[in-house]
Amino acid sequence: MEIKSLAEIIEEKKEMSSVEGGEVVDPRQVPSSVAERLGYRCPPRCGFYSLPSDVTCPNCGQPKVTISAQGGHSVTCST
Ligand SMILES: [Zn+2]
Repeated sequence: MEIKSLAEIIEEKKEMSSVEGGEVVDPRQVPSSVAERLGYRCPPRCGFYSLPSDVTCPNCGQPKVTISAQGGHSVTCST
């Protein structure tokens, strides 16, 4: 049985696939910007970590993810 530190595991994950989504990592081990994008971290005013399934921050009650459904100004790849 091989026990690696979490940091080592994350380093390997970064080498294999650099955060393409779907990877489950400890949110405290990734950059805060990534944690926010993945829905783990409350935006800077709070910084509280919780599960992405929690739409609102359990600490400050603010929505963690900014859903830009209005306006339709998507930043997808335009060919
Ligand atoms: Zn918060």
